[in-house]
Amino acid sequence: MRRTVAFTKNARNVFFHILTGCNLRCVHCYINPEQHGHTMLDTETIKEWLALFAPRSRETNVIFLGGEPTLHPGLPEAVRHARSLGYHSVTVDTNGYLFHGFLSKTSPSEVDFLSFSLDGATPKTNDAIRGPGSHAACTEGIRNAVALGFSTSLICTVSSLNLHELPRMPALLKDLGVARFFIQVIGLRGKAGAKGAELQVDRTDWQSLVPRVAAETAALGIPATFPKVFLDLDEPFACGGLVAENYFIFPNGRVYRCPLCEDYPWHSLEIREGRLLPREGITEMNFFSLNIPEGCVMARLIQPRGETGPDGQAARIACCLLKEKEEKGPWARKHGDSAPGM
Ligand code: SF4
Ligand code: SF4
Repeated sequence: MRRTVAFTKNARNVFFHILTGCNLRCVHCYINPEQHGHTMLDTETIKEWLALFAPRSRETNVIFLGGEPTLHPGLPEAVRHARSLGYHSVTVDTNGYLFHGFLSKTSPSEVDFLSFSLDGATPKTNDAIRGPGSHAACTEGIRNAVALGFSTSLICTVSSLNLHELPRMPALLKDLGVARFFIQVIGLRGKAGAKGAELQVDRTDWQSLVPRVAAETAALGIPATFPKVFLDLDEPFACGGLVAENYFIFPNGRVYRCPLCEDYPWHSLEIREGRLLPREGITEMNFFSLNIPEGCVMARLIQPRGETGPDGQAARIACCLLKEKEEKGPWARKHGDSAPGM
């Protein structure tokens, strides 16, 4: 059964990039050092910043990312600190290398989800995107995590380079014992943005393949989530910056509410001297309330060429935070649906 996942209005999601460094050089990496810096936060600063977003009245989920967050030796301590502050769920997004013996220094009771990134069913396709040996490292990391009792999810970023292997992913997920599948669309950000149309998946390919693969994954008992991307004419548009509460924190102190704004100095908040402060002047907040026929203002600004719908009108693009989910049977969801758009 497929349903559009509405923005979660009673939860806050904190996407915390604790460093920007990474051992890989993926062709679609969304980290933009010019905008996000080269810093690795020290563990005490991570704890202080976690406290700034700690749950008060609302359920709050934290997702640790990078760069590669397991390159940070203080990650297990940061995970424990998030727990002690009352975060509802803790997720770690990893490329699978699991540095510093991460699995042995934390436990399934501390980490709700370990989320692995793999961009192809085969080493040939994945490694062409993510680097030599990365398929083997990631799948080994997943197997080790599953054997230790961690709940795992897998994120596949779909582009023109790997679309053909998407139908092979459900069987691989089943074999690996992955609990949830997130399909992401190639972004308009970072290195992918610079490569432009070359990596993009067109509307017809996306709509004919992605929902079908999600349904096949769900039929295996693995819930699958994918971005809505294209809106039909009668579907309502909503901007996640207005109706959801997501924070994307970078180690240089920038805090964004919209992932598509991350390539620009338009963050609406910043952390300075340990305080979370709103920014003056033009920020992403100015875009959220603009109402244009094409839907998302940022998608329109970044990709002015746009897409054309079957009626010849410009396609309406959904907020990149809006996801659809295929699932079979009950699924105990904690943060789940709020993977950032790529
Ligand atoms: S996409 Fe992730 S794993 Fe790949 S280079 Fe960027 S930070 Fe590293
Ligand atoms: S992606 Fe578009 S619709 Fe979503 S928060 Fe950003 S500006 Fe709003």
